[in-house]
Amino acid sequence: MRVPEIPEESAPDLRAGDPPAPAQVAARPLIRRSARAGARLADHDAASLAELLRQAGGTASAARAVAGKVVRHAFGAEPGAPRPAPAWDAGALAALEVGAWAHEALLALDPGLSLEIAERAPSEDDTLRLVLRARDGALIESVLIPGPARTTLCVSSQVGCARACAFCETGRLGLARQLAAGEIVDQVRIAQALAAERRGAPLRNLVFMGMGEPFDNLGEVLKAIRLLTDPRAFRFAPSHVTVSTVGVVDKIEPFFREARAELAVSLNAPDDARRQAIMPVNARFSMAALKEALARSMPPGRRVLFEYVLFDRYNDAPEDADLLAAYVTGLRCRVNVIPCNPGPDPALRPPSAERLDAFVARLAGHGVTTLVRRPRGRDVGGACGQLAGVARVRQPAPA
Ligand code: SAH
Repeated sequence: MRVPEIPEESAPDLRAGDPPAPAQVAARPLIRRSARAGARLADHDAASLAELLRQAGGTASAARAVAGKVVRHAFGAEPGAPRPAPAWDAGALAALEVGAWAHEALLALDPGLSLEIAERAPSEDDTLRLVLRARDGALIESVLIPGPARTTLCVSSQVGCARACAFCETGRLGLARQLAAGEIVDQVRIAQALAAERRGAPLRNLVFMGMGEPFDNLGEVLKAIRLLTDPRAFRFAPSHVTVSTVGVVDKIEPFFREARAELAVSLNAPDDARRQAIMPVNARFSMAALKEALARSMPPGRRVLFEYVLFDRYNDAPEDADLLAAYVTGLRCRVNVIPCNPGPDPALRPPSAERLDAFVARLAGHGVTTLVRRPRGRDVGGACGQLAGVARVRQPAPA
């Protein structure tokens, strides 16, 4: 099996002993991130911009000051307001009182969007699934989910995914490439403009629950989060940014160390045997190792959100709720129960309303804070686990 080339710091942790992930066989070669990232303004947070300016000859403090002005100019506005393209020429920089020494390095960066809208699929429930096309033709999906008080955007972190969960359409694609930070940020820029155009509640909530495994692209995800939560730039509250992982255990501590965002972990089964059967990651990182890493790394006052997709007669028995409650005991957490959406494995179906209610009641009865995520955007393939823009748009439907 050929394992696709993956930049070192964001490689999924596939070691000897891991079961082969079938989706990887189909993966196309990755475009090296280093060849692409960094040439766009939105690929930089204030710190990486300051570093670039320091290399262009500025002192550390001048570089930091200019970087702050630039992110404010390019990305700062009232939260939720549409963001017109920033003026970006020597005159605009001079108006910001940016010295001539910094102009060449800054103006070499492209302030424009790295993505364009390839398809809009509005759902009956007001959810809007977007297919976005990157400059190299790669297709990703984002889902805009309006709520009464605020709108949520579900963002993608990779083109495809290497993790090959049995119930997830994205997992079937394999990993094509990483997204650059700017391509993550640009999903938000596009969605902000659309949310304003639709006159719904402003976009104030971000969930990294679209295509991809964020912890397999943690460097770019963290850089995007820093720009998105920078009070000079996009001003998202860190408590309104949630990163969801399959449970890449060795990235949990770095995540908590470097991001103030919230963490969600997809558990989806109450024991190792069943988890491993549907989530190949569990062969490398057991549920005990996952719990230990969470207990050790979670900063005081933070809690984790466990996602538990409910599959009919697979993981939805009352005894499974007991096992799940025992597992989460001792961790500050909430459990989000998600009736499964139709995915690639026809044997994994949603439970009946009765079984769902019984499971939730049993779990809550153990004192576990339990939420139910009602599916949104299912009719347009925009619900959890259904995002597969590449497959839908590029490949003709099987006859
Ligand atoms: N790779 C990350 C983020 C993307 S998936 C992760 O797995 O956490 C976001 C959520 O959708 C996860 O909790 C996942 O378990 C859930 N999901 C995947 N397929 C689903 C399906 N068919 N029905 C319901 N939820 C699904």
